[in-house]
Amino acid sequence: MRYIEPHAHMVSRVTDDYLDMVTAGCVAVCEPAFWAGYDRSSVNGFYDYFSQLTDYEPKRAARFGLPHFCWLCINPKESEDVGLAKEVLGLVPKFLDRPNVLGIGEIGLNKNSRNEMKVLEMHVDLAARADQLILVHTPHLEDKLKGTRLILDVLKSESRIQPERCIIDHVEEHTVQLVLDRGHWAGMTLYPETKCTGARAVDILETSGSERIWMNSACDWGVSVPLAVPYAAIEMRKRGWPAEQIDRVIYQNPLRFLSQCPKFGL
Ligand SMILES: [Zn+2]
Repeated sequence: MRYIEPHAHMVSRVTDDYLDMVTAGCVAVCEPAFWAGYDRSSVNGFYDYFSQLTDYEPKRAARFGLPHFCWLCINPKESEDVGLAKEVLGLVPKFLDRPNVLGIGEIGLNKNSRNEMKVLEMHVDLAARADQLILVHTPHLEDKLKGTRLILDVLKSESRIQPERCIIDHVEEHTVQLVLDRGHWAGMTLYPETKCTGARAVDILETSGSERIWMNSACDWGVSVPLAVPYAAIEMRKRGWPAEQIDRVIYQNPLRFLSQCPKFGL
């Protein structure tokens, strides 16, 4: 089995996780910028975090032969402070030329607030100006449908954004089709408790098809499973999916989307 882990928060994982992922067939890992489990107290916290994502973490992954890529932004959970967000957005362009940076992400909404919307629009503008791919986080539970619609409308209203260069992550049964219908890519996040289990994700693939869709573990500092993607592949195998179709979902699809950034090479 070979697969790409397109969304994993490796700074919060141990080296054993890298070893397990490589052993399971992982050939590249991508790490969107996110909440650290606490709010950073100033823009300097983001400078250090972006340095970690673009310098230290790729070196740590390289020790296991694993190419490491990342996405940069201030995440929706820290977007209430618009002043801080502006400072962070001023910092991001200084890092965009680093060799492992794929684009702007994970941006989006958390509580669908007015300030989050403002910061989302600022990120979309930056992505358009700098010609960057976009990775979007959608809210959880009861906020998901409304938040997804708001995000899709922001992307649609920005004429410089090409839909196929945006992936909307954490889709579920009730949002996946909305996302695909707008021409975007969709990501399914496999969590053991919240979000989508592997079995549910395979159900979604079987009903919505496997075009323009990927799966990720989003493993972080919470309850999460770094091997969730290969586990889901085993579920597909159990259900009789041919090896070629499994490979398309867990390897070829992420490769197709990510290769839109010329820096993504395997
Ligand atoms: Zn994430």
